[in-house]
Amino acid sequence: RRAAALAEVSGPGSTQDGHPIALLANIGGAKDAELAGAEDLEGVGLFRTEFVFLSAAHAPTLEEQTAIYSRVFAPFDGRRVVVRTLDAGADKPLAFANLGEEENPALGRRGLRLSQAKPELLETQLQALAAAARATGADVRVMAPMVATIAEARWFADRVRANGLPKAGVMIEVPAAALRSAQVLAEVDFGSLGTNDLAQYTMAADRMEGELSELLDPWQPGVLDVIAAAATGAKHAGKPLGVCGESAGDPLLALVLVGLGVTSLSMATSKIRGVRLALKTHTLEHCERLAAAALAAEDPEGARAAVRAAATPEL
Ligand code: PEP
Ligand code: MG
Repeated sequence: RRAAALAEVSGPGSTQDGHPIALLANIGGAKDAELAGAEDLEGVGLFRTEFVFLSAAHAPTLEEQTAIYSRVFAPFDGRRVVVRTLDAGADKPLAFANLGEEENPALGRRGLRLSQAKPELLETQLQALAAAARATGADVRVMAPMVATIAEARWFADRVRANGLPKAGVMIEVPAAALRSAQVLAEVDFGSLGTNDLAQYTMAADRMEGELSELLDPWQPGVLDVIAAAATGAKHAGKPLGVCGESAGDPLLALVLVGLGVTSLSMATSKIRGVRLALKTHTLEHCERLAAAALAAEDPEGARAAVRAAATPEL
């Protein structure tokens, strides 16, 4: 039955009662873009640009970057592509963006902090993104990783706009930014929750440490509280807030995220059909009830069980 139901739903994501929730792909380069572009999805919600340069010894030139981004954007004519500027450092070190040894790389100069230390890297990337965006019909939007403060969001948005790119956003993956999302998002056009890092920083548990997987579970009620606060702030600011962490690909958790107020979901391409079906079989009000049930739980198992019991049975 589930297979038949999966095959039946297609097209833009929405709840049963017609609230649109864009379904988007997480990609890491041109090959992923080609595969995702052929799928029934609304675009890209996270292009991890650092993945393209993981083995590069030298900083890629403006021309090299423009060529790569043009290839990534090409399959998405008329669709959105959310590009994340280099998220180097910690679990994704880049040889050409190395600032030296750090005691705690996950808490160090990574993401936007590294862009502020090496502004020429960001500038070249934004120029290349603008040139590639002009050359295609994709709706290109650019966001920064690891934003913690209002000032950082403003600094980034100024640079994005100065390069003629129309839409600037920030990842919400640091608890401080999540708790102050109304003020942070006031500086930009959109936000995207990175639940992998948000769980790491909320639970003070290293995401690279397999032994801590229980603490890193995105169903942790403490993590859901922080997501709820971020979504409330986004609503106050009148700004869209998506999710691009792995949690968006879990159909039951996707319902909870939508119930908390999230407006788009980005995930591995293979997960999209399951999430589309979950949305199609639940109204927004039902999602809100599921979110309340998850928040009322004591632990991840309790949250999962409560949501599974109250969701429609096909899931
Ligand atoms: C995240 O932190 O949830 C995220 C989407 O980014 P990454 O996994 O690349 O850090
Ligand atoms: Mg992250």
